[in-house]
This record gives sequence, C-alpha cells and structure tokens, in this order.
Amino acid sequence: METLRSHVHGAWHAATDGFVPLHDPSTEAEIARASSVGIDFGAALDHAREVGGRALRAMTFAERGEMLIGLSKAIHAHRDELLELSMRDSGVTRKDAKFDIDGATGTLSYYGYLGRELGDRKILFDGEGLALGRSAKFWGRHASVPRQGVAVHINAFNFPAWGFAEKAAQAWLAGMPVVTKPATSTAWVTARCGEIVVESGLAPEGAFSMIVGSTGDLLTRLGPQDVLAFTGSADTGNRLRSIPELIERSVPVNIEADSLNATVLAPSVEEGSETWGLFLRDVAREITQKSGQKCTAVRRIFVPRDRIAEVREALIEQLEGAVVGSPFAEGVTLGALATASQLDDAVEGCAAIAAVARRVHGTGERVDGVGAEPGRGWFFGPTLFEAEDFRDVPIVHEREVFAPVSTLLPYDGSAAEAMAGVALGGGTLVTALYNDEDAWFQAALESGGCWSGRFYLGSEKMVEQALGSGLALPQSLHGGPGRAGGGAELGGERGLSLYMQRIALQGYRKVVDELQ
Ligand code: NAP
Repeated sequence: METLRSHVHGAWHAATDGFVPLHDPSTEAEIARASSVGIDFGAALDHAREVGGRALRAMTFAERGEMLIGLSKAIHAHRDELLELSMRDSGVTRKDAKFDIDGATGTLSYYGYLGRELGDRKILFDGEGLALGRSAKFWGRHASVPRQGVAVHINAFNFPAWGFAEKAAQAWLAGMPVVTKPATSTAWVTARCGEIVVESGLAPEGAFSMIVGSTGDLLTRLGPQDVLAFTGSADTGNRLRSIPELIERSVPVNIEADSLNATVLAPSVEEGSETWGLFLRDVAREITQKSGQKCTAVRRIFVPRDRIAEVREALIEQLEGAVVGSPFAEGVTLGALATASQLDDAVEGCAAIAAVARRVHGTGERVDGVGAEPGRGWFFGPTLFEAEDFRDVPIVHEREVFAPVSTLLPYDGSAAEAMAGVALGGGTLVTALYNDEDAWFQAALESGGCWSGRFYLGSEKMVEQALGSGLALPQSLHGGPGRAGGGAELGGERGLSLYMQRIALQGYRKVVDELQ
C-alpha cells in the first residue's frame, strides 16, 4: 500500500493518521492512501512566499522558461511509468492517460518556450504607451509585475498531471511559487509528478509545494498577494469563492467549473461530406474519451430537426465500436469511471434525463468490463439520449453527467436558435460548430458567442489539421462564462495575468519608457 506524501517548506511530509483510501477503479482494490494531517499550513505558506517567491522573482522570464523546459523533459523521461500509474490510479486507457501526461509535458514546454521569447526581463509591458497630457511630458503605460504571494492550485480528479502542470506552468513563468492540491481520488499521479519535480532540482526551494489530502485551514490564511485557482465542480467552486477571508482580502479566485458543452451541426453540412465525417468523429470522441470525464466533453448535440434520424444512426454506429473494460485488457477503448460515487452519480443523472428524453443507445447503468471480474469495477458504457424539443428538457441543460453520456437535441437550423439552445446551459467552456457556409458562423458568433469560452469552428478546410474540440491548447484561452466558472486560464501570455498585478505607470515619457 502506497502512502502518498505532501511536500511543504522544502521537505517531504508523511502523515501518520487521517488517511483517505485511493482505489483502482477497474478492480475496486485499495491501492494507496493520502492524508495531510500534521501539516503546519501557515508555515508552509510562509516558506513558499518568502523563499520560493523571492527566488522565482529573481529569475528572468527566460530563466523560468528554461526551468519549465527542463521540468517538461524530466516528467517526459518518466512517461511510461506515469502512463501505467495513471491506468491504475484513474482507470483510464493508455491512450486516455497519454492525453493527461503528454498534455502536462506539452503545456510545460509551451510555457517554457514562451519564457524564452519573453527574454531577459522580469516585467511585462502592455503596448507602447500613450500621451496622457498635451505632450510626451505626461505619458502613460501599463506594466505587469509578479504578485508577491503564493499560487494555490486545487485540481479536479480527471487530469491529475495536466491539471497540476498547466496551472503551475503559468504561475511559475509569471514568477509565483505554487502550492498544488490534487483531487484525492487520483492524487498518486500528481504525487509522482511532484517527486519528479523535486528530484530534478530544477525548481528553486519553496517554488513547489504539494498537499495530498485536505487543505485544512490553508485557504483561510490566504492574503491579498496570493491567488487561488480552482478546477472542479461548480458546487465546490462556489463554496470556495465564498470563503469570507478570501472575499475580505480580495484574493483573486479563478474558477474552472463543469459545463454543459454543446456541439451544433449546421444545415449546410451534407451527409457524407468531409465536415460531416469530422463532426461524427469529433462527437464520438468527445463523448467517450476519458470515459466522458472531461470538462470539455460534449453533453448536448444540437441537430437540425430534419437531420436527426441520420445523425442518430451514424453516431450510434460510431459509439457501438466502444469496448468498455480494464485498461490493461486487450482491445479496450473505454476505461472505468474514477470512483464509486462518480458511477452512482452517472446512473442517477441518466435516470433523471431518461424521465424527459428517450434513451437511444447504451444502458445508463453500470456494465461489466472486459478483462475485469464480473460485478467489480466502476464501468459505464456510452449512453445517448434524444429529446423531442430542447426547450422542454431543462435537466439536459443543467445536469452535468460526468460520464460518456450525451443528448441529441433537434433545432430549426438557424444559428440564432442554436445559440438560444446553447445559452440554456448557462455558459460553456467550449461550443463546437460544424458548418460549410461562412455566414452561419458569423451569425452564431454575433447571436451567442458570449455564452462560450471557446468556439471550435469545424469546416471542410480545417479537417486535415483539426485536433478536436475537447483539447485545451495552451495557446488558446480555457475557461468559460457563468456555469463554466467565469474563469480564464492559458491563452499564451494571457495566462500569466492571474499571477501578475497590472499597474498603470504615469510620468515623464523618458522615465516611463526607461522602466524595463
Ligand atoms: P470536486 O469534487 O469539486 O473537487 C475538486 C477539487 O476540490 C478536489 O481537489 C477536491 O479535493 C477539492 N475540494 C473539495 N472540497 C474542498 C474544500 N472544501 N476545500 C478545499 N478543496 C476542496 O470536483 P471533482 O469531482 O474532482 O472533478 C470533477 C468536476 O470537475 C467535473 O464537474 C468537471 O466538469 C470539473 N472539471 C472542470 C474543468 C475545467 O477546466 N473547467 C477541468 C476538469 C474538471 P478532494 O478530492 O480531496 O475532495
């Protein structure tokens, strides 16, 4: 039995009681345990702020970039070990594990190269500046400087490596020390990544801390220079952002929450066309990848009413190819759900949707997995529903079933009506639109772009290079309005803004311009 350790004030901390068990989702066997009992959270924060923060702020963007490139390589060197651990710890297939592990190293590397580009400086400037008075004697410009606190990162269970690395990459490049707290159920992968970070010696002391288990009183100790970045369910996110100490001290809180992402097929896409093929492949993958446990997975599929039968038939054909079971068994394409409570929630969610929509594929229940003991393992097959009218099924727009579950929703084919349907979800991380007529995308953007953090515009010309709507690329913003949490991460240099204070500079032009 593995006992996961935390890393605080430059040392490993192994708890002796208060353990929460971690399970192998395919066998339900207890494989590890985690606890943060005994950690002095005040001392952990002080050490990170004083030792780690000072060291990182003394480095230039280029130096921090080299650190990130080195960390990416260090984690990549353990790729096979981490993939295997992920299959055991999260129950995902090797292919799905790669999505997490390679996503982690890719994002670290991307921010590393961005650091190289930003070069030998420590402050970011926003634009060239402008005259505030009648001449250059009174000049203005905006700059961003690293916040002098600690970046606390609380992550969801579904991306134990990427979740840690994508947040850490942005904070470190900005010059802030990181305290990462993985979701306990899949914390082993993060804990191993943390060991690799520490063993590499690439991050200065205090730049990296990790809490496995509860955060104790850590969050109530955060102050005005600290940052809290959270990924997880909307309920937990709302609870955390309401912590009185965070409100009183104006601690910036970034929330990446669940969302009812949508896919829309426009009427211009003809059956059998390149775009049609892309739409089907993307939707099938976005339902099944990571067994549907992706914040960007598609939960609602809007289809012109007169095309619904052909889409249903073609999509079911794609979903029928899924083989659910142990990630270690030959031929399995869909692993288990991460925990028993995720399975219970998926079954309950499907029952709630079944009350208003017709189940057209799958069981909406636990299934036995290939290569797993009958009756054991938290397996759940792809399940597809179909509603008569998207306006009559509020539960479909409100309840995120965090499993391979989605619903077909007929609409009249106009961009405006599709966007009205998307908006019923209260804000998505991503909306994927498939269309072969330019004016339709324009109409969609104008009528409903404000309800999504990202539009993925599928069309014939991009099929060859399309990466799928579920991928949160470091170059593009990740986050969405309303239900999706209202946060923003990634987006290249934009991702650093959470960890830096923007300051307006006003003075004589030469004085302002000479600031580096
Ligand atoms: P969760 O139950 O909300 O937990 C998220 C994290 O919050 C975990 O690390 C959890 O730790 C921690 N947490 C819970 N209560 C806390 C408290 N009172 N104080 C401090 N930390 C606390 O979500 P989850 O089940 O792990 O993740 C699934 C959800 O995340 C889905 O709804 C999914 O849509 C969403 N998600 C969103 C994104 C995005 O980028 N928008 C990405 C991935 C996932 P413990 O595990 O120790 O309880």
